[in-house]
Amino acid sequence: MTNREIIELTARHVAATYKRFPVAFVRGKGTRLWDGDGKEYLDFVSGLAVNNLGHCHPKVVAALKKQSETLIHVSNLYHIGPQAELAELLCARSFADRVFFCNSGAEANEAAIKLARKFFSARGEARFQIVSMEKSFHGRTMAAMAATGQKKIQEGFEPLLEKFTYAPFNDIEAVRGAITEKTSAVLVEPIQGEGGVNLPDGGYLKELKALCAETGTLLIFDEVQVGMGRTGTLFAYENYNVVPDIMTLAKGLAGGVAIGAMLATDRVAGAFGPGSHASTFGGNPLASAAGVAAVKATLEDGVLENCRKVGAYLVQRLNELKEKNSFVKEIRGKGLIVGMELTVPGAEIVNKCMERGLLINCIGRTVLRFLPPLIVTEAEVDEMASVLKGVFEEYK
Ligand SMILES: *Cc1c(COP(=O)(O)O)cnc(C)c1O
Repeated sequence: MTNREIIELTARHVAATYKRFPVAFVRGKGTRLWDGDGKEYLDFVSGLAVNNLGHCHPKVVAALKKQSETLIHVSNLYHIGPQAELAELLCARSFADRVFFCNSGAEANEAAIKLARKFFSARGEARFQIVSMEKSFHGRTMAAMAATGQKKIQEGFEPLLEKFTYAPFNDIEAVRGAITEKTSAVLVEPIQGEGGVNLPDGGYLKELKALCAETGTLLIFDEVQVGMGRTGTLFAYENYNVVPDIMTLAKGLAGGVAIGAMLATDRVAGAFGPGSHASTFGGNPLASAAGVAAVKATLEDGVLENCRKVGAYLVQRLNELKEKNSFVKEIRGKGLIVGMELTVPGAEIVNKCMERGLLINCIGRTVLRFLPPLIVTEAEVDEMASVLKGVFEEYK
């Protein structure tokens, strides 16, 4: 189908929950995408931090082919080999002992919120409140939306699920003030993604951990966006030497296939028993096999090293553009999640880049976000920077 055919059909029959760009991609390989009219693009969005290994990574494709010819789905009433293997891989590389599998980031956070409540109710303690952060993003289901500290996302869906309170990100005293004897958990993205690529201040995550320990509160890291190598380590928390009690993953976990996961220590995960929580598709053979292939490729093929090296180079190239353009206010990031804050709206810049075959994304009106596949090269960063330079010159 051509761009136009796909766009018209979408307009007629697909729920209008997204403001979509007038393009439809029909093929992808590595850092490149092609649209229905055959135009090529350099992808610095990665399906929003999903295609961390690039499009159609050969190892993920091979795993999907093999698994789809062997077994696609069986119920979690039975044991599932690839699911067990993926759980082992994730636990071996993290603080966690146990994994609950689901199908998306929002679902992973729902599971985390339910586990936090169950952990305390199982001990006979009435602790059900959650403290999350302003400008956070945790997903669009009722609990995940209530946890998301952004009015614009909650508008029109009130009454919200109760017992969520919000503290400004990087304000430890605000969290201290928000924690009561009814608080079960503090939920935080180690680096805020949708909120504008906001990095934690020096000791913030460590202080959160200490505060949680002091008050017996659980610490939940939402690594749906910044996990799976995005920051140059498999999990973002490794950069800050702080381990949570619960962590949620999704986006990049299975090389582009829908999956979600909630990881926890045995102490906490023990509150979930048979019947506590479930998901029909969670950890199905196909998604899990893709996950195993994606995690192995991330760990074994130099992907994390590349992410750190090219991430530093990307920041350097963006800083060069900042020097020459007064409307660029700040560059901030870790690994290959990088934000460029402007003093002007970014939408027009994103559109102009797209015309020139470069995909970038804009969040919160003024922050350009760069999320290339973690296999991106320095030459591709140069290519991106040269397109952006041209667009900036035209924009001035
Ligand atoms: C994208 C995202 C989610 C929601 O994931 P879905 O798969 O869209 O439900 C949750 N938390 C963070 C930090 C995210 O970036």
